[in-house]
Amino acid sequence: MASSFAKVMSSRTTGLLMASLGAGAIATGYLMSDNAAVSADQRRKLYPPSADFPDLRKHNNCMASALTPAIYAKLRDKITPNNWTLDQCIQTGVDNPGHPFIKTVGMVAGDEESYEVFAEIFDPVIKDRHNGYDPRTMKHPTDLDASKIHSGVFDEKYVLSSRVRTGRSIRGLSLPPACSRSERREVERVTVQALAGLKGDLSGRYYSLTEMTEQEQQRLIDDHFLFDKPVSPLLTCAFIARDWPDARGIWHNNEKTFLIWINEEDHTRVISMEKGGNMKRVFERFCRGLKQVEQLIQERGWEFMWNERLGYILTCPSNLGTGLRAGVHIRLPKLSKDPRLGKILNNLRLQKRGTGGVDTAAVGDVFDISNLDRLGKSEVELVQLVVDGVNYLIECEKRLEKGQDIKIPAPIQHFRK
Ligand code: ADP
Ligand code: MG
Repeated sequence: MASSFAKVMSSRTTGLLMASLGAGAIATGYLMSDNAAVSADQRRKLYPPSADFPDLRKHNNCMASALTPAIYAKLRDKITPNNWTLDQCIQTGVDNPGHPFIKTVGMVAGDEESYEVFAEIFDPVIKDRHNGYDPRTMKHPTDLDASKIHSGVFDEKYVLSSRVRTGRSIRGLSLPPACSRSERREVERVTVQALAGLKGDLSGRYYSLTEMTEQEQQRLIDDHFLFDKPVSPLLTCAFIARDWPDARGIWHNNEKTFLIWINEEDHTRVISMEKGGNMKRVFERFCRGLKQVEQLIQERGWEFMWNERLGYILTCPSNLGTGLRAGVHIRLPKLSKDPRLGKILNNLRLQKRGTGGVDTAAVGDVFDISNLDRLGKSEVELVQLVVDGVNYLIECEKRLEKGQDIKIPAPIQHFRK
């Protein structure tokens, strides 16, 4: 006994324990018990939260700005009904201090309950990311009436393609960072069965990634229809790439204008897109298709995760609310070289990405321009904001072509901070 005690006492772990608990606690004989029989959870709790607090000094994401030692201490040992922890929520933001092209959120939810159990960190992150929206006091509106959009057809000299997407999660199943293989396969089964009920121009079929060749996949990625392989550290550090490509796939109609991604970053992503500048038509198909998909899911006894404060619940807090990203691929050779572009986009609440997706740099003069916020404004309001903003950018480009000056517009007031 004495010799095993000496061995334990000399280990590095014990040194840390001595430092954080004091020798008195160790003398209780805890460490002399069979360590294998002690649960990982119990072992972790031997260390005070201050000893676990991540080093965020070089970080630039919403989670790192909001997480204080006090919040961490309060939440570290809480778990959701699916056994998901705060540390699992924030791992992606701890491991990825920043992103070269966008300011990231730095945390994900493992299940619907994560947003409640860890509200003390999710709420400030949501407020920061969604322009002051307060999830404790505000209610999120939904409006899928595409007929309300005006001026929604862009000049095709500049706009190459238009797209609207959202995500939807199936209530009762863990989200992609936390789901088991069986839950992931259940999402695929439920969704694919429901989508078989789509009719007319929306009818199509499902293409499982496990049954696609490498070339077929790459072709769909290159044509902007399919999500990229989950190589981004934002995704891998959020545990979203596990078991790839099991239960992943894409469903699309024959024209590839209405598409549903299954088990990428969210249970489902619903997309309407086409070449050219007819955003109004794209949004009309999006609304029509989304309503049908929801009805088909409900007919099978399932429902989407939703509540009136957070709207539709998705994996990343940046996508709460509408989950909607309406965007165009747009060519702006002059404006893109103007140093005022960043400020203009920010004031219009627009985001710029490369055309290969969020992790790609812009190539040449073509960018992906879309709404920055998703929560607190309805689908109609956000699409109109993109329509007005993109039309403003095109106006600027035309003025620069003629050698005229451009103005930075006043910031769009969203919510009071
Ligand atoms: P999402 O927000 O939908 O996850 P990503 O930035 O990850 O978007 O890009 C996913 C794919 O969608 C990429 O292949 C990207 O090129 C494509 N995409 C995004 N916006 C458009 C658009 N307006 N036109 C054509 N393809 C687009
Ligand atoms: Mg993406």
